[in-house]
Amino acid sequence: MRIADRIARLGTETAFAVAARAAAHKAAGHEVFPFHLGDMNIPTPQNVMDAACGAMRAGKTGYCPSPGIPELRDALAGDVSAARGVDYSMENVAIQPGGKPVIGKFIMACMNPGEEVLYPNPGYPIYESQIEYHGGVAVPYRYVRDDAGFHIDLDYLESLVTPRTKAIIINDLQNPLGAECTPQERERLAYLAMRHNLSVLLDEAYFDIRYGGKSSSLAAIPGMQARSIILYTFSKKFAMTGWRLGAAIGPKAVIDIIAKLNVNDESCSNHFIQHGALEGLTGDQSGPRAILETLKERRDIAVDLLNSMPGVSCPRPEATFYLFPEVTELMARKGFGADYAAFAEDVLVRTGVSLCTRLHFGRPLPGEKQRFVRLAYSGIGADEIRKGLLALKAYAEA
Ligand code: PLP
Repeated sequence: MRIADRIARLGTETAFAVAARAAAHKAAGHEVFPFHLGDMNIPTPQNVMDAACGAMRAGKTGYCPSPGIPELRDALAGDVSAARGVDYSMENVAIQPGGKPVIGKFIMACMNPGEEVLYPNPGYPIYESQIEYHGGVAVPYRYVRDDAGFHIDLDYLESLVTPRTKAIIINDLQNPLGAECTPQERERLAYLAMRHNLSVLLDEAYFDIRYGGKSSSLAAIPGMQARSIILYTFSKKFAMTGWRLGAAIGPKAVIDIIAKLNVNDESCSNHFIQHGALEGLTGDQSGPRAILETLKERRDIAVDLLNSMPGVSCPRPEATFYLFPEVTELMARKGFGADYAAFAEDVLVRTGVSLCTRLHFGRPLPGEKQRFVRLAYSGIGADEIRKGLLALKAYAEA
């Protein structure tokens, strides 16, 4: 069969290759500590499972409306509006089979071939993949690190805007950095988007995964709601990664287009799962609270251990379940220089710790000299975190 040219432009999530390598190492009889994937090993709250099973038994097994069941669209509009201080109604919500599909649908709805889209690097790899796959020019913006964590290099970002820039993707509460904008940075981003008339994808996958303080949305800044699509997901807050449910939330005109893309792609998201999600939003909230407590304990164990290792330094993000420690000195001392793949393999073989490196989140930017790895603690329990990171500590000290 002859394959379409555009497939050459389609990227992927290379973290899945790390998972395959870790599985092979485990199958060979070795202990593996899985810090590589942002999947969750925490069960979905019982009330959500009961509601989904109940809906299945009650016959909610046929197609449902393409933008989602009205009760869920309505509840989600209310929930998102209250949490962000904005004003959405049901017609601003198109339910999706996960948060991820919102990325491609936003690009399809808002970007013409040849137009430029700004996206974060390091960042979630699907942004670059979808921009390029649909014939756009993916323009990476970068972050700088200070003692508090990572921040968007806003001066550099501004310098990237051209007359062809159509859109910007912003992942406040960021994977893989755990970065979060300050209110001033959000204001500046909003000003930039409005001054250059950009469409905005606000990837808020981790809006509810936070351990202190309160999340804020750029959509709440006057003028932003009208030009932004929010990526919402049930995956993280309700530990529902494998259920596949999320939503695009934004101006009705764009949501109608996204709903039409739903008709073309999947007809509708799974019907009975939407009833489970409705219970998640409107029912007992002890499940999501317990998930956060579990994650917070894991974060603290992991950050403390990482910072006790020579040649490793790691900020303590208040949100997400990712850590992005700097390992420049450790990699240099072990003789790996910039060879991330060899370093990750050495760490896996000698300690059992399976992790992603900076390379899994985009091509290194010109002049980049610091080295980083990413650890996710959503799929590994506290005892295993301790055991794995103590092995990594011994490796760092050796
Ligand atoms: N956006 C970011 C930044 C993510 O890290 C993820 C998942 O890891 C997603 C979106 C999509 O998640 P899902 O499709 O499970 O909702």
